Amino acid sequence: MADKFQAAVIGGGPGGYVCAIRLAQLGLKTACIESRGSLGGTCLNVGCIPSKSLLNLSEEFHKVKNLSNKGIEIGEVKLNLPKMMKSKDKAVAILTKGVEFLLKKNKVTYFKGAGSFKSKNEISIKDNQNNETLIKTDNVIIATGSDPVSLPGVEFDEKIIVSSTGALKLEQVPKKMLVVGGGYIGLEMGSVWSRLGAEVHVVEFLDHITPGMDREISNEFMKILKKQGITFHMQHKVEKIKKDESEVIVSTKDNEGNQKNFECDVVLISVGRKPNTKGLNLENVGVDLDKKNRVKTDKNFKTSQANIYAIGDVISGPMLAHKAEDEGIAVAENIAGQSGHVNYDTIPSVVYTTPEVASIGKTEEQLKDLNIEYKIGKFSFMANSRAKAIDDAEGFVKILADKKTDKVLGAHLIGPHAGELIAEIGVAMEFGASSEDIARTCHAHPTFSEAVKEAALSVDKRAIHS
Ligand SMILES: Cc1cc2nc3c(=O)[nH]c(=O)nc-3n(C[C@H](O)[C@H](O)[C@H](O)COP(=O)(O)OP(=O)(O)OC[C@H]3O[C@@H](n4cnc5c(N)ncnc54)[C@H](O)[C@@H]3O)c2cc1C
Repeated sequence: MADKFQAAVIGGGPGGYVCAIRLAQLGLKTACIESRGSLGGTCLNVGCIPSKSLLNLSEEFHKVKNLSNKGIEIGEVKLNLPKMMKSKDKAVAILTKGVEFLLKKNKVTYFKGAGSFKSKNEISIKDNQNNETLIKTDNVIIATGSDPVSLPGVEFDEKIIVSSTGALKLEQVPKKMLVVGGGYIGLEMGSVWSRLGAEVHVVEFLDHITPGMDREISNEFMKILKKQGITFHMQHKVEKIKKDESEVIVSTKDNEGNQKNFECDVVLISVGRKPNTKGLNLENVGVDLDKKNRVKTDKNFKTSQANIYAIGDVISGPMLAHKAEDEGIAVAENIAGQSGHVNYDTIPSVVYTTPEVASIGKTEEQLKDLNIEYKIGKFSFMANSRAKAIDDAEGFVKILADKKTDKVLGAHLIGPHAGELIAEIGVAMEFGASSEDIARTCHAHPTFSEAVKEAALSVDKRAIHS
């Protein structure tokens, strides 16, 4: 007889496994189904974690190579790429195994295989030998995430024409790498290979990188990346990609109609991701999709079927691991009769380049579009004593506050540890803080966080160190 659960989560990524753990904590008999063979989803296996590992290792390589500029002579510095990749793989293995342990600890039943709907209350699970297991469940949570998209007619071979997945496991440093798309994934991976010695070019359709980011920050970001040696080709559209054994030629056209050919040994296509709904049999159970093929949900993550929910990359909203996790917790609490909730106004986003870039809340462009009057506070890391002391002082903090009430509406940072500094502003915004609240909070000296305080002071033109 089929096992019976109160909840079955399809997908073991940050949305799915976190949701399964929370459901189990709340006393529901829970199953988590994952087809990849290891837990943690895109994030742990081919996303956040391996990319951050390589960003860190490549940055260390770059720093050590340049230490003699600061009076530290250590001789010739050589790259051992296979060893670097092993170090990344080890981090991934430890973390994915850790998630398996957490599921066990919380008494979540883990099924290895691809889940699909047999009916609204029955899930078929097929393993890689095509053996089928059937389970019954009161509720289902779809957390199947997303996959990289390519350009029309172009297939990833993950060696020469690569998605982010292939870019995380190249066997040698490309001489020349072309990145199609100036979003955060392309820029992070471009930075990794540039630091390891590749000549990196970015082709972007728009006139700016990182669409959606506060434009002043995005402009500064591009300036810094250019200084680091990355070349940008803005307002260029890729028309054709031709590949032979060891080389690829990418033909582009710019906004004035000029054509250009880029010969390179690797092209990374990072133009976005598509929701993963294939093979779920959603049409059989009447779960509706939106125009972008994402699962349609209401504010409680309920789909068009009362007992079926969806979270994470497979629904609308930013494709970020922490967004998926928070939705996983909220939907679990809703299913258990509590009032789960996600505040979409305070979801931070971080680009883990050097320097890091971090944003939360509204950008200046959004405030203008919404006709909301605002004040700006800005503070440069050049005037931050900690940043100057360690010679890591590029970038600035920008805080946007409501002109009348002083409530913090958004913050945008580029600079050292921006991804950690943004958390303070997130907490402040969650509590409805004003810029004055941040400005009057005592910050330790000397820390990078003093730049946040000074930016908050600067909202009312009373920064001390600028
Ligand atoms: C290179 C890269 C870097 C990134 N860096 C960051 C970052 O720094 N910070 C950040 O917040 N986000 C980052 N992301 C995005 C982040 O990885 C995703 O937003 C996040 O993983 C989404 O979580 P999810 O649980 O919705 O889906 P996923 O993590 O995609 O997990 C879904 C899981 O469902 C499984 N699945 C699919 N269909 C089925 C089925 N039918 N049956 C069983 N299992 C199934 C898949 O195998 C997958 O493991 C990055 C992504 C990439 C590609």
